[in-house]
Amino acid sequence: MNAEEIISDDNLYLANTYARFDIVIDSGDGALLYDLHGKEYIDCASGIGVNVFGVNDEVWKNAVIGQIKKVQHISNLYYAEPQVRLARLLCEKTGAKKIFFGNSGAEANECAIKTARKYSFSKYGDGRSEIITLKNSFHGRTLATLSATGQEQFHKYFAPFVQDFRYAAPSMRGISECYTDKTCAVMIEVIQGESGVNVLDGDFLTRLEKFCKERDILLIVDEVQTGNGRTGYMYSYQAFGLNPDIVTTAKGLGGGLPIGACMMFDKCEKTLSAGDHGSTFGGNPVACAGALSIIERIDKSLLLEVQGKGAYFKENASKIRNVERVDGMGLMLGIKTDKPARAVAESCLKKGLIVLTAHDKIRLLPPLNIRKNEIDAALKILNEVISQ
Ligand SMILES: *Cc1c(COP(=O)(O)O)cnc(C)c1O
Repeated sequence: MNAEEIISDDNLYLANTYARFDIVIDSGDGALLYDLHGKEYIDCASGIGVNVFGVNDEVWKNAVIGQIKKVQHISNLYYAEPQVRLARLLCEKTGAKKIFFGNSGAEANECAIKTARKYSFSKYGDGRSEIITLKNSFHGRTLATLSATGQEQFHKYFAPFVQDFRYAAPSMRGISECYTDKTCAVMIEVIQGESGVNVLDGDFLTRLEKFCKERDILLIVDEVQTGNGRTGYMYSYQAFGLNPDIVTTAKGLGGGLPIGACMMFDKCEKTLSAGDHGSTFGGNPVACAGALSIIERIDKSLLLEVQGKGAYFKENASKIRNVERVDGMGLMLGIKTDKPARAVAESCLKKGLIVLTAHDKIRLLPPLNIRKNEIDAALKILNEVISQ
């Protein structure tokens, strides 16, 4: 099919849920993507923070193909090695005690919500079911995770939503205003990705953890976007010395195949028991084998490299005329300019640079192995588009 046929059939046969950009991606290599006409793009989106080591990564490909040659799917009725090895590695890297695997960020968060409510139910009985999330948060597209998402724009059409979510301003005052004797958990993103790469205040995070501990409220950190090396830390809560009770992740975890994980720490490691939760595909061996090959490579030296590249990207993007601010950590950056973000993204695309938007900002989530010369080329295009 040629590009025109693909676009017109997409419009005919796909549910109109995405405002797609006008290119058809065909292939790629590392941080470079190629469209059907052979035009080259520098990829600063990595499929929304998914392709951690870019496209065509040999190590990941070999891990995935190796597993496909053995067995592609098993179901969770039997034991299998890839899931166990991945769960063990995640526990070793975080201190988590138990892992539940689903297929997406939303599913990881669903598991976290269920775990928090059951933890509270088992200990305190009925009624302690409220979960505080933050204004401008994003936690997914299922009904429960939409309900958890603290943005009005997501709370229309689909009522009734899941009850007992309260949205706090990201401050202790905001939390106290939402807290009641029915609160069982607080769920946060340390860096709010979808709403503009907003880094939460470190002092607030420390005080929030103390507040939760004192009241036996579970602290859930949604690391779906920030996780797996993205911010220059394995998980971004580690940069702030936090000790969460539940951490969720997905996106980059699978390096390109669907997988999500809900990681349960000491307090709730025994909360879920057989029959409480499940997933047919969750922890699929192919996805797990690929994920293992990603997580194994996120070591100290890679994280330092991400911090260095992120600092370089941020410093130079900040110097561009008409850039008001650059927020974020590591290779998760949000650029605020005086121009509409979507228009900037479209102009970048024309010049061969793929970027994301997040509210009024340009959002950059390049593969972690993006090269210095590719960052320079991306900065050059950003400069041409933004400084005009
Ligand atoms: C993307 C995202 C989700 C949802 O993940 P899906 O895999 O699309 O379900 C949840 N939380 C955060 C912070 C995200 O960035």
